[in-house]
Amino acid sequence: MADIKFEPAKMLKEKPDVSKIGFGTHFTDYMFAMDYNTEKGWHDARIIPYQDIAVSPANTTLHYGQAVFEGMKAYRQGSKVVIFRPMDHLRRMENSCRILDIPEFPLETVHEGLTQLVAQEKAWVPEQKGQSLYIRPFIFATDPFLGVSVSETYTLLIILSPVAAYYAHGFAPVRIMVEDTYVRAVRGGLGEAKTPANYAASLHAGLVAHQKGYDQTLWLDGVERKYIEEVGSMNILFKIDGVVVTPELDGSILNGVTRRTVLAVAKEWGVPVSERRISIDEVREAYRNGKLEEVFGSGTAAVISPVGVLGYKGQDMVINGGKTGPFARKMYDYIEGLHCGEVEDTQGFIEIVAEM
Ligand SMILES: *Cc1c(COP(=O)(O)O)cnc(C)c1O
Repeated sequence: MADIKFEPAKMLKEKPDVSKIGFGTHFTDYMFAMDYNTEKGWHDARIIPYQDIAVSPANTTLHYGQAVFEGMKAYRQGSKVVIFRPMDHLRRMENSCRILDIPEFPLETVHEGLTQLVAQEKAWVPEQKGQSLYIRPFIFATDPFLGVSVSETYTLLIILSPVAAYYAHGFAPVRIMVEDTYVRAVRGGLGEAKTPANYAASLHAGLVAHQKGYDQTLWLDGVERKYIEEVGSMNILFKIDGVVVTPELDGSILNGVTRRTVLAVAKEWGVPVSERRISIDEVREAYRNGKLEEVFGSGTAAVISPVGVLGYKGQDMVINGGKTGPFARKMYDYIEGLHCGEVEDTQGFIEIVAEM
């Protein structure tokens, strides 16, 4: 058992009406923290009151972005509080750390800190189906130094935020613009890491897509602007002629936990899946031949995000009449069922962390 200190809060906050707060606006009473320096390694694991943090104006993260993060969710299952695939998220954060040269953190201690934090904050896990407690672990460099180099000090924090149901008014298929000017990431770059730089690289294209009447961007590869990578900050899947096709992990695509869940569940259902390179031309061809059955994104925030329209070079492809397809709908219902305990967890995705 890791030694995790606890500092009680002087006052607890009033809990908001979760149905009215959207995403990422409210935070719970406590957070988990841990620090790194070269003498002590990772040390001082602690659960402390949620608070602002002071950093040097020369903080290396503010200038050069050496940081990684994760996003996962806790749900209520009757009297239990569960987290969906927490170890898979923490292992991905390890991988992101390797890419950003952040020193390896003690996985067991952080997992236990996460578990203890969510157990401490169990009253913040919303009860209604679709609502959840969003968990944001992150690590950032803290050297007060303007030189460009790998930092010698870091802080790891985990903060928690209750979030409303993503689809409060039912499934809403999104309009996606295929981006052939800007790129999110390239092979050999940071695309496989969950790191702020990838988000910074995506903001402007997202804004342009909005101005053109689309909700989000479909990213093509950074070299040829030909092969499909991701949609917004989600992975993307196509159902073409009965097969679920998704871009293979080539180093520039994030290895999504929801993507992996969708592929595992599809296999369990006996639906053929294929992880391979897929070009925008192949998607257009399938559309013309009437074989493009469904398109949807996958990610922790929305779980499944059906794509109703794909706009490419000024032409809109309307997918499945602009409506959510049956496979995406069934997959969404199944994964949401796993979250709330209505579907039996045959693959060990759910970890119980507290009882009410
Ligand atoms: C977080 C993220 C995803 C989705 O990953 P999940 O583990 O399914 O939440 C996909 N693409 C990018 C770029 C991401 O940052």
